Amino acid sequence: MIPRPRKMKLTEGTAPSEVPVKERLCPQLGVEEYRIYISPKQILIDGSGKTGFFYARTTLEQLRMIYGEDLPCMEIEDGPAYSYRSFQIDCARHYFSVDELKKMIRMSAEFKLNHFHWHISDDQGWRIESKCYPRLHEIGSVRAGDHFGNYHSDQKSGGYYTRDEVKDIVDYCKELGIEVVPEIDMPGHVTAILAAYPNLSCLGQPVEVGMKAGIFKELFCAGREETFTFIEKLLDDLMDLFPGKYFHIGGDEAPKERWNGCENCQKRMKEEGLKNAQELQGYFCNRIASYLQSKGRIPIVWNEAVYGGNLDKGVVVQLWTEDKDNQIQAHLYKGGTAILAMVENCYCDYPYGMHSLKDMYDLETAPAEFGEHGEASVLGMECLVWTEFIRDNERLEELCWPRFAALAEVGWCKKECLGYEDFRERLTKLFALFEKYGVHATKLEGWDPDDETAAKQTEEFQMNFSKEDREEARRAQNDI
Ligand SMILES: [Zn+2]
Repeated sequence: MIPRPRKMKLTEGTAPSEVPVKERLCPQLGVEEYRIYISPKQILIDGSGKTGFFYARTTLEQLRMIYGEDLPCMEIEDGPAYSYRSFQIDCARHYFSVDELKKMIRMSAEFKLNHFHWHISDDQGWRIESKCYPRLHEIGSVRAGDHFGNYHSDQKSGGYYTRDEVKDIVDYCKELGIEVVPEIDMPGHVTAILAAYPNLSCLGQPVEVGMKAGIFKELFCAGREETFTFIEKLLDDLMDLFPGKYFHIGGDEAPKERWNGCENCQKRMKEEGLKNAQELQGYFCNRIASYLQSKGRIPIVWNEAVYGGNLDKGVVVQLWTEDKDNQIQAHLYKGGTAILAMVENCYCDYPYGMHSLKDMYDLETAPAEFGEHGEASVLGMECLVWTEFIRDNERLEELCWPRFAALAEVGWCKKECLGYEDFRERLTKLFALFEKYGVHATKLEGWDPDDETAAKQTEEFQMNFSKEDREEARRAQNDI
């Protein structure tokens, strides 16, 4: 089974397919914990509520897939190692339909992932119908063409989710024990928002919704008060749509060129006693974070937001790159918490030849650079798919599956996992699950490509970036 139950004991006998499955309410169990007792006369499942019973039934479904209808008698006692086991889908670079998202969500629930990080705003698109700022979906959801990597089209493209569709997704997730974590990336990755409301940038000049991949220069102006007024009203509207505990406010890849050249931003730095633009980003994130906290939410940011050294310790840091000047460690030592999402383990937009299924499974859950507080500061982990180069559902699915399942097991079992070979063998037996849910998962021969195939896939992927793209990215990275 995947994730592998944490305690299992075979007992005497077999339970024929017709034995009844009974639920027993056990309030002392945690929300995600469950127990299963399979005996010749009945199958008894214990849970403290909907999620526990749902998890017990997914485990039973997998047992039937492995053993057939008659099950060997056994006792299972199960619950997760980490409370945050997440999957992210970028719907800004490419829009995916509600049906496709539901398929991905349903499959993720099967492996007991419990947070859906929904990336709904970026340079290349804003994807949610907005009540307070309609230009966001009217202007920000459509771009004039697609020029991602070596793909070129001058066709308009885009789309957005209506408020009813968002509610539908949130409700669907809730039924499956999944909380939706929306991400409005800021202060960078906001070109689509600025295309609709250019007054919020430092230059205040019109920009177009992004059409290519990469790091964009324009940021929200951290010096103008109207920026914060706008964001707070926007967040109020979004919090109505997304009732969950966590809210992601981005914070990655924000080059500081505009802030360094902006009168308003410089004035803000002086007034607030901030030494540099990194600290200004800390100030910016803290202001948005404290607004969310005042509404009872827990903000999450990408790790670049800690580099100023002044990020509030209540803000959860999502790690995707390496630590810089031990700032992440310092944040954790202050009592902060982290979600693991390292590129080389967790990013599924790369071909398997670059990030194999084994790489995903081998995610280090206690990174050495975290120091002694490392392990305790980790809330959980996330598998992600960025979609600059993914234009159709089939490609999305084959890149994510079965890699999402590997991350799901690491998050559920932690160090008790029996190792990659054991996982791989169990996965082979459960492959029919992907067929059952109509998911185009990558088949066994593609999971861990040999060196030659890996080199070929790497070369093909690298063709998405020209020499100029690489230069530009390097320059932007140095300014983050
Ligand atoms: Zn500014």
